[in-house]
Amino acid sequence: MKKKSFEYFVKARRVIAGGVNSPVRAWKAVGGKPVFVSHAKGSKIYDLSGKEYIDYVLSWGPMILGHAHPKVVEAICGTAKKGTSFGAPTQAETQMAKLISKAIPSIELLRMTSSGTEAVMTAIRLARGFTGRDMIAKFDGGYHGHADSVLIKSGSGIATLGIAGSPGIPSELARLTLSLPYNDMDAFQKAIERYGSRLAAVIVEPVAGNMGVIPPLKGFLKKLRELTIKNDIVLIFDEVITGFRFIFGGWQNLIGIKPDLTCLGKIIGGGMPVGAIGGRRKIMEKLAPTGDIYQAGTLSGNPLAMSAGLTTLNILKSKNNSFYVLDEKTDKLCRQIEKLFITKGIAVCINRVHSMFTIFFQQGPVFDYCTAQKSDTVLFAAFFMAC
Ligand SMILES: *Cc1c(COP(=O)(O)O)cnc(C)c1O
Repeated sequence: MKKKSFEYFVKARRVIAGGVNSPVRAWKAVGGKPVFVSHAKGSKIYDLSGKEYIDYVLSWGPMILGHAHPKVVEAICGTAKKGTSFGAPTQAETQMAKLISKAIPSIELLRMTSSGTEAVMTAIRLARGFTGRDMIAKFDGGYHGHADSVLIKSGSGIATLGIAGSPGIPSELARLTLSLPYNDMDAFQKAIERYGSRLAAVIVEPVAGNMGVIPPLKGFLKKLRELTIKNDIVLIFDEVITGFRFIFGGWQNLIGIKPDLTCLGKIIGGGMPVGAIGGRRKIMEKLAPTGDIYQAGTLSGNPLAMSAGLTTLNILKSKNNSFYVLDEKTDKLCRQIEKLFITKGIAVCINRVHSMFTIFFQQGPVFDYCTAQKSDTVLFAAFFMAC
């Protein structure tokens, strides 16, 4: 069935590094023979042989409306006819900034980028420039894109590849990044006591998604907010996955905590390359051209990305029960999966936060990177291939 895909993977490997343009697509952790996609529509995705799959991945988040949503396609085509990049400002960028800052009140000023990685890179540079400090803190298993400073004990492809950080990151730079256990308030408190005055920023996935889904324990994010305020540290919420995933806003809206900076991506681009960084006016004003902290992008705020993103966001906004429906459906799905495994006598721990979920093959509970790693990954690979 997957013969065509495999043949193509062989061809791809001759000209593309590893045959893929982003490591997880190679399926190395689960068997190493990826399905090549020919097209997709709604909840279905099709491989080169025309085989149909239900797509629970949805491009790792952006396609929340399903693939090739008619209104999104129409918006992209209409925009394309008027030109695809100008190197000059357009009205759509202001519309996007207005829509986002209204939905996420901690975002007083915004800047668009072309990826989540760039948004995070900018957030860290801003925090360092704003505070005049060099160190940052992140959490084990947290993934914030592939920039040097945050590729230390990361999740996502790094977790499954088993690379500790990555060669090519200068140790001088790595030394400036503290990686702490997620959901561990005592460890955080101790780190602040020791390094508080040297930390420019603390960056966190408010709901961890890249080591499998792990919700924040009650009080964890509140503690981060309290201690970062006390020590003049910039708190960065990386809401690249969680932004517009649970409600029309971010996880921060649901818990009533305002970070200083927020990184966005994925859903806000509606399937086009995108990222955004936003937050307190006092910090964001430090960006060039108002300030002297440099950041730029030839394709930032690109018209195609803005039209796909704006259309996606407006559809999500106009159907006020869409997030509720998604939550309900995911709940049903997870319960059924759990039941199936229980009847087969297989231990599973399903972590679910609204429409985000992970099946961990273990008894659980899974509340940090260390506990996540106790899962039976061989069994997961078998399950994945069967799916
Ligand atoms: C996907 C992701 C990123 C990186 O975004 P890219 O667009 O892939 O560069 C950053 N942070 C989180 C939490 C992500 O899930």
